Amino acid sequence: MKVRDERMKASDVFRKTDYVFRKKISFDEAFPEIDDIRVEVEERGEGVRQFFPGDSKSIYGKSLLGEYVDCSNSLCYNGGVSIGEAIREMVRSRATERETSQICCGYEGSPKGRRKYRKCTNHFKVKVAIKFKEGEPPAA
Ligand SMILES: [Zn+2]
Repeated sequence: MKVRDERMKASDVFRKTDYVFRKKISFDEAFPEIDDIRVEVEERGEGVRQFFPGDSKSIYGKSLLGEYVDCSNSLCYNGGVSIGEAIREMVRSRATERETSQICCGYEGSPKGRRKYRKCTNHFKVKVAIKFKEGEPPAA
């Protein structure tokens, strides 16, 4: 049996902070103007599981989305990429599609994160597609 790695990921650290987009708030409450959303995350780097070559994509819908998508590097502390920020920005500008590339925000370090060895180099390609609800756009 594999013991779960003890390093916290971005979403774990995030859960301990106070923010608008928390797990306690449902996606619909956080983004009432969004009818449907699809987020495609393609990760490259350490610990990325591939079922077949080239397959390293994860698809997230409304119910699975969190503020962050976690990094797969088992040595990485506080790792992942922010999805919430991209969504908020898209909602502000009423953008329906966006593709970004981001490097993991974490670092490789000792299990409790006290020592930093080097920055994590895992790389994420994030594709977001939003379907907004019909009706008046919110007043800017
Ligand atoms: Zn990482």
